[in-house]
Amino acid sequence: MSSKVCFATVGGNVKQGPLDKIRALFEAAGFSEVIGERDLVAFKVHFGEPGNTSRVQPHYIRPIVDEVEKLNGRPFLTDTGCLYFSKRYNARDHLIVAEEHGFNRATAGAPVLIADGLRGSDVIHVQVGLKHFDSIDVAGAIHDAGSMMVITHITGHVLTGFAGTIKNLGMGAAGRRMKMAVHSQVRPSLKEDKCTRCEACLENCPTGAISLEDNLIVFDNDVCYGCGECVAICPEHAIKVMWHGDPREAQEKLAEITKGVLANKQGRAGFWSFLTNITPTCDCWNFSAAPAVADIGFLASLDPVALDQASGDLVIRSLEKQALAEGAGGSSDTFLGAQGESWNRQLAYAEEIGLGSREYELITLED
Ligand code: SF4
Ligand code: SF4
Repeated sequence: MSSKVCFATVGGNVKQGPLDKIRALFEAAGFSEVIGERDLVAFKVHFGEPGNTSRVQPHYIRPIVDEVEKLNGRPFLTDTGCLYFSKRYNARDHLIVAEEHGFNRATAGAPVLIADGLRGSDVIHVQVGLKHFDSIDVAGAIHDAGSMMVITHITGHVLTGFAGTIKNLGMGAAGRRMKMAVHSQVRPSLKEDKCTRCEACLENCPTGAISLEDNLIVFDNDVCYGCGECVAICPEHAIKVMWHGDPREAQEKLAEITKGVLANKQGRAGFWSFLTNITPTCDCWNFSAAPAVADIGFLASLDPVALDQASGDLVIRSLEKQALAEGAGGSSDTFLGAQGESWNRQLAYAEEIGLGSREYELITLED
């Protein structure tokens, strides 16, 4: 059965601007039904890594917060600590990043709370009994919220190819144990002939897994946790991802974690995709890559799988149009950051485990 995905283009005119369109999408997607009276409503957002400017901006979130408050919901903005040593590693510093990036009551309309506590240990175990995980550690504040608005910035991703709602929740709404498990399948390997020994990878590795020995870059696989940071930072593209085991496993794990996160939110979650500043790398990096395509618009749905499928399809269509305009011919089943693996295994598996449907009807709101 196909799910409804509502779409509005990013452009505005004298009759309505982008913020009006976001309000209209809230209604069109049926989100009024999601918010219960006096619900604490978790807005899962990404506050952005310092140095990166391509996240969903707080002024886009404000109209959604306003709509939730009109329904007597009590919104708060939230995310979890990251796995690597950035300012988002603990809740105190993460809150400062959120404030510096304008995520606060004054701009976005709601206060900020880090969902998994000071050091990422505030989690609730949710039993799922799936192929990779028996239980999922869901961030406490997200688990305990009555309902959710999931705000996702669509980008490419160095490990999963595509970063949409499943990546946002699978990585960003769960505890550290889950994040480690997703990354456990990936290790870097050196293309020796391309390496200039600039040491950029070594300086930026969050775990100190890289060293220079006998004028050769060496990876310590016992220390590396597979974040992929060295792959993206290398200016010579001298590091490739080496997959241990089934390369599709990370995507499947993200889908299972998302299933655990949403276990107590049946009919209580609305999902948003922002197809703006669509970069090949995700918002966790300390820089923003140039957008791969022009801004497309906003999507809203009650079905996270349909939403991700529609988001990916729209980006691929734009990439194909762009390639044709440049005389390069259309592309096929690859997404922005895909490492030669299909980007949509996460969607196929999500559908298999009952998270939603890849079939969708795209309903475009009038400009
Ligand atoms: S960043 Fe790339 S080129 Fe520089 S030392 Fe590391 S692998 Fe070699
Ligand atoms: S993937 Fe690269 S940057 Fe990340 S921990 Fe391993 S060696 Fe370090």
